[in-house]
Amino acid sequence: TYVVTDNCRGCRYTECVTVCPVECFHLDDSMTYIDPENCIDCGGCAPACPVGAIEPDYRLAADKKFWIDVNRRRAAETPVISARLVPLPGADERRLALGR
Ligand code: SF4
Repeated sequence: TYVVTDNCRGCRYTECVTVCPVECFHLDDSMTYIDPENCIDCGGCAPACPVGAIEPDYRLAADKKFWIDVNRRRAAETPVISARLVPLPGADERRLALGR
């Protein structure tokens, strides 16, 4: 399954939502999460993310593996997002700071 990681926090561009064919994405006030029960591993969302926040679980660095559990837990607790939102304030500044 694909996993949303820390770069999303505070940006939340939500381009991912426009490419996901199966409405995997959930969100809270700070970021999005992928529901691992629905993800079909199409890979479409990863290149669509302007801040490179999304990776397949098997490619996560050891210090990012905890995001697998975070996505599973938070996707179960938060609503589905089915349309793109305006990014969070400061998203462009954060993206530039990440060198994107
Ligand atoms: Fe949706 Fe495909 Fe990304 Fe899974 S890999 S969250 S199915 S766009």
